[in-house]
Amino acid sequence: LNQQNYIGRFAPSPTGPLHAGSLVAAMASYLDAKAHHGRWLLRIEDIDEARTAPGASESILAALAALGMHWDGEVVFQSGRTALYQAAFDRLGRLAYPCGCTRREIVDSRICTAADGAAVYPGTCRDGLPVGKAARAYRLRVPDPGHIDELVMFDDRWVGRVQQHLALEVGDFVLKRADGFWAYQLAVVVDDADQGITHVVRGADLLDSTARQIYLQRQLQLATPSYLHVPVITNADGEKLSKQNGAQAIDLSQPLHAVKKAAWFLGLDIGPVDTVAAFWPLATMAWANLETARQD
Ligand code: GLU
Repeated sequence: LNQQNYIGRFAPSPTGPLHAGSLVAAMASYLDAKAHHGRWLLRIEDIDEARTAPGASESILAALAALGMHWDGEVVFQSGRTALYQAAFDRLGRLAYPCGCTRREIVDSRICTAADGAAVYPGTCRDGLPVGKAARAYRLRVPDPGHIDELVMFDDRWVGRVQQHLALEVGDFVLKRADGFWAYQLAVVVDDADQGITHVVRGADLLDSTARQIYLQRQLQLATPSYLHVPVITNADGEKLSKQNGAQAIDLSQPLHAVKKAAWFLGLDIGPVDTVAAFWPLATMAWANLETARQD
């Protein structure tokens, strides 16, 4: 796998320490970068200050280092980059518009339900704020149903062909939230482009966001990276393992155990190995073999 100028990244939200679920995403992106002789950047997605847990960024960085996953270059923090998000937002011009709807109003008016269970935005404020409503959030206008640009299609390296009808499955989506924070979708697109990311490798919980991100890249005339979404660890109720549902921090007193478990979840065949240092080259080879097998 030789890919010139491969740049990948791991982009955790610092809502808590690294856990088994986030380690799988970190490992997949790390191994893909290594297998392509590329760079692996680290970006802390701390844009949502309300969800940021004190000390979580430091703890994630320390855990990655302890597990032998060394990133290239300086760590980037989204919280210091709001001027970039504002500049991208400004470039969207009239494609972005103010919306005065509350979450409740959108749910109550639901005309259909998106794949992720969220209500499709019904377009209430699309043609101007209705009388008596004040701007809360800003949304990006997506093409009308049936318009050729409304269907976004891409080939995920793990999942295969994915397509989403933006108007029918998502609706005009939020760029700037009612609480004043920039939305994840805008920040991630701006940062992936600004950091020159060529390959995004992350958990399948974000598969549903990818079409939005590609559409936004097109409106901003930014390149679209290649995407690979790995399966996510779920709990007994089928929910993604997360800080919110009690995922435990990785036990750093047993680093080899932690990385072996994550590799097993990714389906990597590594064989016997007794140090973390010996683990990584073997895991990188196993990841490369998996890719070859996927292509056959
Ligand atoms: N910060 C996001 C998360 O932790 C991941 C963003 C991404 O990889 O695009 O879920």
